[in-house]
Amino acid sequence: MKADWNTVLATAETLKEYRAGVETRDKDLGAFLHFSPSVSTEAGNPDSASAVSRLPIAIKDNLAVTDFPLTCGSRLLEHFTSPYDATAIERLKAAGASIVGKTAMDEFGMGSATDTSALSETKNPWDTSRTAGGSSGGSAAAVAAGMVPVSLGSDTGGSVRQPASFCGVYGLKPTYGAVSRFGLVAYASSLDTVGVIADTPDRLEAVFSVIAGEDAKDQTSIAAFSPGQPPVAPADLSSLRVGILRADEGDEPGVREAMTRVEDVFRTAGTEAETVTLPFLEYASAVYYTIATAEAGANLARFDGIRYGERPLYAENPDELVRLSRSAGLGDEVKLRILLGTYVLRSGFHDQYYGRAQRLRARIRQAMQDLFSRFDLLVSPVFPTLAFRLGRDGLTPYQRKQADRYTTVANLAGVPALAVPTGVHDGLPAGVQITGRMGGDYALIAVAKALHQALPPAAPATYPRIWS
Ligand code: GLN
Repeated sequence: MKADWNTVLATAETLKEYRAGVETRDKDLGAFLHFSPSVSTEAGNPDSASAVSRLPIAIKDNLAVTDFPLTCGSRLLEHFTSPYDATAIERLKAAGASIVGKTAMDEFGMGSATDTSALSETKNPWDTSRTAGGSSGGSAAAVAAGMVPVSLGSDTGGSVRQPASFCGVYGLKPTYGAVSRFGLVAYASSLDTVGVIADTPDRLEAVFSVIAGEDAKDQTSIAAFSPGQPPVAPADLSSLRVGILRADEGDEPGVREAMTRVEDVFRTAGTEAETVTLPFLEYASAVYYTIATAEAGANLARFDGIRYGERPLYAENPDELVRLSRSAGLGDEVKLRILLGTYVLRSGFHDQYYGRAQRLRARIRQAMQDLFSRFDLLVSPVFPTLAFRLGRDGLTPYQRKQADRYTTVANLAGVPALAVPTGVHDGLPAGVQITGRMGGDYALIAVAKALHQALPPAAPATYPRIWS
């Protein structure tokens, strides 16, 4: 008999067992940067309590949790502790959930494999020679290895969906603004979202409905959409019009197989499905990296060793203090992106790079709007590969950035997108991405529930689910 997730934090004994279980697993995986669960004082009455009451939840280390570290995976913030809660965290706590720890990530969210982290390189629970994905790799691995049922991540260009897909779990990037960004350390503010990773669509929905909604502390936040709106009954795939963006010839066989599996589910359900092409898809990565680095250059200016973080013991003057702090505190990928962001914005060339990227972003946004006037749903790959190898045998930095094209489209357009596991190929999980129209987050989750029934996900053999 498996123990219930709502009971692991109920008593000192169950907590002890839980802590030991997680610590053993995380020795191999490196999903957590900080793990400090405590007994939950919630009443824990399963009938009256909220769906997330007593639920242990892991949080990506770029979301502020009072008195927990807030490192963003950076050496510069290694000893920084948050004095306050992000709005999403405040809402989870108010609903009775328990924050048990902070998870590993690419430094400031910049990466696709959690290997730009200065603090922990997360391994994939399906094969520890491979990446868990990134940048929310720790959050995805923690769910996949059964250490928590749900975690929060952030998604600026795919950082929730890609690791969720690499680890065989569900990952939602909500509509831009649907979840407050207050307390999320900014990477690229016009693209950043707080997302949810979960073992089932039901739990994903329970947590999303708690954290979603307008927030006076984030002017870009928007009102929550009521559950089931626009209405899509979970079992009713037949009423949907679905656009299918086929995998590229060059995408891995496991990715193409995942697409076929999902297409078959729709075909069996009698769904109206049609192959589509996305104009501008080939430019998505270039547009994304131009805009994201431009915004990152501005957002990361605050990490100067004066206002935040580690600083050298001695410097001749303030300029040198900043230079020494940033040289020692920031990793190569972050430095590269600040340089790139400065380059695309430099005087005289602004229009050639940044301006052009903004115009293309508007086109991509329009193309998505047109698409959703004809279809309710877009089905596409998440990433051209399954979880790739860590180290030299993996993808090159350039290949990784090119590979972000499928996921970055949703961030550029502001629409919601969800990674759904479909099965296993050669021992690795293979997901697909479903994208919906602006504000259609609950409709997407409803589709994920139907797909969950048709294609129930497996767990990695080495890390069986002790709690469920
Ligand atoms: N891989 C993308 C990047 O490196 C996405 C990151 C993210 O969504 N935070 O920027």
